[in-house]
Amino acid sequence: MEFKESMKKLKKWFPTIMKYLFFIVSLETIVLVILRCPYVIPFLACDMCPVVDCPSKYYRKPFVAFIVGYMIIFRADFCSKICPYGSLNDILYKIRRKISKKPFKLSLETKTILNFLKYLFFICAIIAIIYGNPRYYVPLHTSDLITSLKLAYLAAGNAYFARLYVIVGALLLGLLLIPRFWCRYICPLGTGIQLTKKGIRKIRKIKTVNGVKSCGDCSKCGKNDN
Ligand code: SF4
Ligand code: SF4
Repeated sequence: MEFKESMKKLKKWFPTIMKYLFFIVSLETIVLVILRCPYVIPFLACDMCPVVDCPSKYYRKPFVAFIVGYMIIFRADFCSKICPYGSLNDILYKIRRKISKKPFKLSLETKTILNFLKYLFFICAIIAIIYGNPRYYVPLHTSDLITSLKLAYLAAGNAYFARLYVIVGALLLGLLLIPRFWCRYICPLGTGIQLTKKGIRKIRKIKTVNGVKSCGDCSKCGKNDN
């Protein structure tokens, strides 16, 4: 009986345990991507990336294969149950809830502007990919990580700082005001996933309606009630 209870609890907590496990193993990569990734879109060109201290350069392919397998087997949603950067946003939100439980409400105008920005970031990411995902600074490397980070800071230009400010600004907004600010209003991958899901839902809906229409069972969809 006790064993059954423990298994039940484990089953319940398993997705959360895995989510934070993914976060812990990816922490070094997250820091390096924020501070050192030289490409406009990280993770696409890891094989030829000069940042030799980034774990993604060596583990990206097996990690992605594992994640895809995990998603298929456990039907896990990427954004809410896997993405380490989403988990970082969740952790910040939990900290914020400890400071204040009061929700911060956005006006309709602000939401519209932020939604516009979200699609702007998405389009910029697509353009960057079309143009070969350019590298916007040359990362210098030393054997010591802190010195490498300092060199990145000294060698980088406006594009590096623009990206850094967007990332840090979004994390701060997520911590102080709006939960998962990055995920909701900036992340191009999140926007891509959201659009894909919407597209699939639409196709399924059309297929279902067509399916019911052709089966002749009028009581199911009510299309031919009158
Ligand atoms: S290996 Fe390079 S391209 Fe890939 S995530 Fe790390 S820093 Fe970015
Ligand atoms: S929106 Fe982006 S950062 Fe957030 S969980 Fe999804 S993929 Fe990760």
